[in-house]
This record gives sequence, C-alpha cells and structure tokens, in this order.
Amino acid sequence: MEGKGKKMNCWHCNTELIWGSDFTYEDYCIEGEGIVSTFSCPNCNAHVEVYLGDDAIGSKTPEEAMKKYTAKLKKENNKFKKEKNGRN
Ligand SMILES: [Zn+2]
Repeated sequence: MEGKGKKMNCWHCNTELIWGSDFTYEDYCIEGEGIVSTFSCPNCNAHVEVYLGDDAIGSKTPEEAMKKYTAKLKKENNKFKKEKNGRN
C-alpha cells in the first residue's frame, strides 16, 4: 500500500510516532469498510488511532469527509436512541 512511508508526529510532544499495525473496521466491530491504523509515541507513550472509512476515501476534501462523518454519527445516534426506546 502506498503512503506507508509517511511520517507522523505526536500531538503532545512532536516526537515521531511509531506505526503499530493496521486493523479493519471488522476487527473493531465498526459497520462498513475501513482501516484503523495504530501508532504509539516512544517519548510520552501516547496512543494514536487513525480511522479511515469508506466515506472518507470517497471524499475530495477533509471538510467533506468530516461532514459525511458527522452526518453518519447523527444517523447512528438516532438509530441507537430508537432501539433503546423500543426496549422500554
Ligand atoms: Zn508523545
């Protein structure tokens, strides 16, 4: 896969993060297709997870991806509420 050589720095201490591994959304019990990449910071032990979903892959800009993502979250949240109410 391309892009594996890219470097990412720690949000907290700016040390270069060490890539751990990639998981599928299935591994994380998330609906849909996507990849979860995990990184750790050797300096402050911060743990970073990057979620790349199929929605984000199809988006042209980060803003568009964010809009889609929040819309999806809202939808799932509503679904969850309805299911919760249904049980009462
Ligand atoms: Zn750090």
